[in-house]
This record gives sequence, C-alpha cells and structure tokens, in this order.
Amino acid sequence: MTAKHTQCRYLRRNDQQCSAEVADESAEILLCVKHLARAMALVKAATGRNAR
Ligand SMILES: [Zn+2]
Repeated sequence: MTAKHTQCRYLRRNDQQCSAEVADESAEILLCVKHLARAMALVKAATGRNAR
C-alpha cells in the first residue's frame, strides 16, 4: 500500500476492499466511519434479536 492513510478493512461481498480512510488509526477495529456505523447497526440488530 502506498497510501498514507490506513485503509478501511471492510471487504465487500464482491471481494473489493473499501478504500475509505479508517475513523481511528489507533483503534483495534480498523473501519471507516461508514462501516463502523454499519457494523454497529448489525450488532444492535443481532443483540436485539437474541435478547427477546
Ligand atoms: Zn469502509
């Protein structure tokens, strides 16, 4: 990788990696803001389902 920024680790279903910059380079989870929000929504949906 030649880009200065850390690339989002999100891998699309078509195997293409998201090219956006990560929200926080020091964070354990390296995802862009968009995919962090997406992941959070998925977790919320999954935990909500299991709680009932
Ligand atoms: Zn992304």
